[in-house]
Amino acid sequence: MAKAFEIAVFEGDGIGPEITAPVVEMLAMLAGRSAEYSLSFVRAEAGAGHYAKTGEALPAESLDIARRADAILLSAMGIPSIRYDDGTEIAPQIDLRTELDLYAGVRPVRIVPGQPTPLNLPDGQGVDFVLVRESTEGLFHSKGRGEITRDEARETLLITRETSEKLFRFAFDLAKQRKNAGLGPGKVTCIDKANVFRAFAFFRGVFDEQASNFPDIVADHAYVDAAALWMVQKPWIFDVMVTENMFGDILSDLGAGLMGGLGMAPSADIGDSHAVFQPCHGSAPDIAGQGIANPFAMFLSGAMMLEWLGERHQVASMAGDAQMLRDAVFDVVSRAQWTTRDIGGDATTQEASSAVMDAFAVVS
Ligand code: ATP
Repeated sequence: MAKAFEIAVFEGDGIGPEITAPVVEMLAMLAGRSAEYSLSFVRAEAGAGHYAKTGEALPAESLDIARRADAILLSAMGIPSIRYDDGTEIAPQIDLRTELDLYAGVRPVRIVPGQPTPLNLPDGQGVDFVLVRESTEGLFHSKGRGEITRDEARETLLITRETSEKLFRFAFDLAKQRKNAGLGPGKVTCIDKANVFRAFAFFRGVFDEQASNFPDIVADHAYVDAAALWMVQKPWIFDVMVTENMFGDILSDLGAGLMGGLGMAPSADIGDSHAVFQPCHGSAPDIAGQGIANPFAMFLSGAMMLEWLGERHQVASMAGDAQMLRDAVFDVVSRAQWTTRDIGGDATTQEASSAVMDAFAVVS
C-alpha cells in the first residue's frame, strides 16, 4: 500500500505563491504516478502579508499544521516595508527553525557544465558540496534579545554542546551517505574562528570528539575567512562543510552566488522530528507579481523534500524521483534555453517550470 504523506505548504510573500504553484503541481504529478507514496498538501498562512492583515506573523493554527505535517514546503517570507515595532523584519521561517528545533540547515552547492557561474572553472571541473549551517543558536540566538543603550549595542553568541554534537553527527552521517552514493570522498570540514574566539575553540573541540566516532570520514578544519577564499578559488576541495549559524548564513549566500544566484539555491532545515524545505532566497518584492521569478531553487527544494521523506520512511522510489527532478532542473539550466532573467535567460516562471516538466518526461 502507498505511504501517505501530508505536506504543509507556506506560500508566503512576494514571489512565494508564483514559485510554489508549479512545484506543488510537479510533486502532485510525481506522487500521482507512484504506487509507493501519495502526497496531500495543506496550505498554512504566515508571513509579512498575513501580519499586515491580522497582526500575527505565524498563527498558532499554522504552527499546528506544520507540526502535524510529515514535511513542510515553504517559499519565502518577509517584505522590507512591513516590520515589527522594533524595526526588525517579519521572518516566521526563522521562528519555525527555533519552534521545531531545526538545527541542521542543509545548503547544497552544485555547478554543472553550462551552468552560469562567476567562477572560471578548469575544463570538466564540476562543483558539488554541501554546507551544513547550525540553525537554532550561534549569533542568531540573540535575535530579539540584543541589549542596546545610547552608547553600546551587544548581541551574544551561544554554542551548546548538545546542539553541536547533533549537528556534527548529522554532518558526518551526510558525508557517509554522499560517499556511499559516490558523490564525495567522505570528508567534513569544520568552519570556525577558533584562532580568535573561545566559543569557536569549544565548537571545534566538540567537532573533534564527534569525528572520532566516524573513522571512515576525514575530519578537516578551516577558518571562516580562508573557507570563503577557497570557496571562490578551489570550491571542489569541499565535500561537507559544517558551521555556526551566522557564518553559515553568509557562506550559503556565497555558495548561491557560485551557482549563478539565489534563484538556483535550495535548502532544507532539518531537526529530529520535522523539516522545512525552502529556497535560500527571500520574497524578491522587486519582481513579485511579474511572473519572471526563477522557480528552480523551489523545484530543487522539493526534490530535497522527497529525498528526506523517502529516506526517513524507507520509500526507495522517492530518492529516485528526487534525483530525476534534480536532473531535469540541471538539464534545463545547462541548455540555457528556458532560463529566467536572473540567470541570463528571458523565460517566464511558467515557461521555465514547463521546461522542467518536459525535461522530467525525458529523464524519467
Ligand atoms: P531575505 O533577507 O528575505 O533573504 P534578500 O534581501 O536576500 O531577502 P531576496 O528577496 O532574496 O533578498 O532578493 C535579492 C535579489 O535577488 C532581488 O533583486 C531579487 O529580485 C533577486 N531574487 C531573489 N530570488 C529570486 C528568484 N527566485 N528569481 C529571480 N530573482 C530573485
